[in-house]
Amino acid sequence: MQNADPKSVDLKQVRAKYSAERDKRVRADGNEQYKEVVGDFAYFVDDPYIDAVVQRGPEKRDVDVVIIGGGFGGMLAAVRLLEQGIDDFVIIEKGGDFGGTWYWNRYPGASCDIESYIYFPLLEETGFVPQQKYTNAAETLSYCRTIAEKYGLADKALFQTEVSATQWQEANHRWLVETAMGDALAARFVVHANGPLNRPKLPAIDGIGDFKGHTFHTSRWDYDYTGGSSDGNLNGLADKKIAVIGTGATAIQCVPHLGASAEQLYVFQRTPSSVEVRNNGNTDADWLQSQNAGWHDERRRNFETLLAGKPVKQDLVADGWTDAFKLLVGGLRDKAPSKGRVALWVLGGLFTPAMYKSGLKEYLTDKAMRFMNLQEEMEISDFFKMEGIRNRVDNVVEDMATAEALKPYYRLFCKRPCFHDDYLATFNRPNVTLVDTDGRGVSRITENAVMFDGVAYEVDCIIFATGFEVGTDYARRAGYQVNGVDGLAISDKWANGMASFHGMHVRGFPNAFFFGPNQSGFSANFTYALDEQSRHVAYIVSALKARGKNRSEAAANAEARWVAEIIDKARETEAFQAACTPGYYNNEGHLTRRRQDQPYSEGPVAFFDLLDKWRSRDRLEGLDIS
Ligand code: NDP
Repeated sequence: MQNADPKSVDLKQVRAKYSAERDKRVRADGNEQYKEVVGDFAYFVDDPYIDAVVQRGPEKRDVDVVIIGGGFGGMLAAVRLLEQGIDDFVIIEKGGDFGGTWYWNRYPGASCDIESYIYFPLLEETGFVPQQKYTNAAETLSYCRTIAEKYGLADKALFQTEVSATQWQEANHRWLVETAMGDALAARFVVHANGPLNRPKLPAIDGIGDFKGHTFHTSRWDYDYTGGSSDGNLNGLADKKIAVIGTGATAIQCVPHLGASAEQLYVFQRTPSSVEVRNNGNTDADWLQSQNAGWHDERRRNFETLLAGKPVKQDLVADGWTDAFKLLVGGLRDKAPSKGRVALWVLGGLFTPAMYKSGLKEYLTDKAMRFMNLQEEMEISDFFKMEGIRNRVDNVVEDMATAEALKPYYRLFCKRPCFHDDYLATFNRPNVTLVDTDGRGVSRITENAVMFDGVAYEVDCIIFATGFEVGTDYARRAGYQVNGVDGLAISDKWANGMASFHGMHVRGFPNAFFFGPNQSGFSANFTYALDEQSRHVAYIVSALKARGKNRSEAAANAEARWVAEIIDKARETEAFQAACTPGYYNNEGHLTRRRQDQPYSEGPVAFFDLLDKWRSRDRLEGLDIS
């Protein structure tokens, strides 16, 4: 594909095909097509991984910091606070242990596509050597325990504890953090590290409540029913007919294990994912241990710099994510746009032409820039990339109709790209059937079957690989409301778009820190962003303590300026998103996403540098301190 002739591409035809596929999928109900996991459906979020329910009396205490969430974000906040000498904190976690995403998502095959040497935080501090380039659920969960042990975090954690509300109390400058266990903690500071993909969602398919067989969501895998572990070997399924609904990044990883173990597997597909080669490999421990101090940060930085479209001397991670950028930089250095074109697909999904141009200034003369029709270049490159992905389906999948149904017809970054070496081949098994719904989704669920197009597929178990809430209200996703000064709810504050200073401080919500990608540095390697946010929080808390201050709040003008900067610099992705097949990336095809809800557009490294500079000035500018 890399040498394909761009002139052979009929973009009109490509656009027509993509938009016809998109139109089949856009639904008037948008996010409303999903069912919230409450009421009769609340059991879908019960914790299947605990041995026993914790029995304890309510805690009534006064602490410096309450950290909500015991995933990587909460653990990093704790570690960075400890490094600043602040140890009076409590971590509140609804699961039975640390891990967050990795506590819940331990389905068979669960694994991370970001290189483990950059994904795992604190690698230099712990000296841990991940077994492979891409880690898996079991190793990640055990690494969380390693961190917890090294820093003594378990003694500071309240597990199986769900926060029910947080309320600012002006009289004593404290947050009151209440939980479903009856706890009432008075905290000077609260860190909201509750995870961007934390609340499972279900499709509101007709009859979903009628099913009498077994059922669960992938983020609450029922190993008592399936047998096996996150490594597979699901020996409880040998005599079971299973339906999987959904074919996103989660399904891509668990379907091969289900196919290997179930008597019969039906995979109900609405939109196919793009599935590239994964290429995992064992770690050379000598290599990792011979790295110089500072290697971890350098590697994380190198990866994110490359993904932000900026040049680096060497691609340290060298994988599916960075490959395209390597080609781009190499090709453009040679002043050969046709080579560069091969890699522009990534930029096509992520950057505006303006940003793209500014990133390329070092490589192209002004004249060359004027000659390139960048939008079309990007589309053509994306087309070749997607053709490569579609051709891979033909090469692997034997049945022609199944292969055709598994081909994604949209631009790469319309959906989360996936990497797997066994997913496509699973459809060659005689016991595995792809039920392609041609964009429409499952029509109905009955007492014993999943229905599509008048056919009832009788099954013993339905597994929902239907993902997590993204476009809904913050408090709904967090599972608790945050009430600031004069009872102002965060849901009301952000009803017409996010407002913050540095994505973390919110006017009206003193001493609260919000972790997340919006108005902040979004990094594909999300733990990197969580680590930088944690360093920032730890600095601010210790700086306030050093000054003898106990109240800090985003200043009105600082918040307004930050929101304006986010909007001014926002990537102009509207046209791209509008042409995309629906999904959580584009608010299910309803483009109500406001520019101010975007991450900092210059990329995560620029954002982290900005925070670093802000800290080094040591003036706490932009915060009203008292
Ligand atoms: P997604 O939201 O990506 O996928 C949900 C799936 O359910 C989609 O295929 C969707 O179809 C389908 N679906 C929804 N409603 C229906 C319906 N009524 N009928 C049929 N199908 C339906 O969730 P995932 O859990 O797969 O992934 C969430 C995110 O988690 C990823 O985007 C990624 O960020 C992260 N992740 C990362 C992994 C990694 O590192 N490899 C692995 C797993 C997850 P449609 O596309 O048509 O909406």
